[in-house]
Amino acid sequence: MALLKIVTYPDPVLHKRAEPVSKITPDIAKLMNDMADTMYAEDGVGLAAPQVGVSKRVIVIDIGIELPDGTKKTNLMCLANPEVISVSGEAEREEGCLSVPEFRIILKRHAKIVVRGTDRSNKTVEIMADGLLSVAFQHEIDHLDGKLLIDRVSKKEQEKYLKAMRNLAEC
Ligand code: ZN
Repeated sequence: MALLKIVTYPDPVLHKRAEPVSKITPDIAKLMNDMADTMYAEDGVGLAAPQVGVSKRVIVIDIGIELPDGTKKTNLMCLANPEVISVSGEAEREEGCLSVPEFRIILKRHAKIVVRGTDRSNKTVEIMADGLLSVAFQHEIDHLDGKLLIDRVSKKEQEKYLKAMRNLAEC
């Protein structure tokens, strides 16, 4: 198990468009494992490679699965080159991001989506998602396109956020 360091705003890697992965090499499979370990350690439901400083189109997501007896089980999905191939409806939800600590925003996104990508065993898969899973996919794919939650607010709000974070770091 290896934990990676989470890169935070305004690190420039977060605003870069990440490069496609040509196939799942052992290095990419290891990156997926390390990203999953990091996501669990940070209590996140998703993580994109740029958030650990790697500008590649790789994401991991786990919103868990509730079993009939009420207990929760992990349900890890690792994808390279994920893309949204169909969408329907609209839904609003409050989102946060490990790369933008202490920042939350309510966003309108597609309610249901189908995502296509390459899984850890190099197979093309299609995943239907709604609810939190749909939001998580759209959020992580935004990361691969260099888009962050904080880009959705004004320059003035962004400066205010940076100043508040600097003050936090100083005390
Ligand atoms: Zn994020």
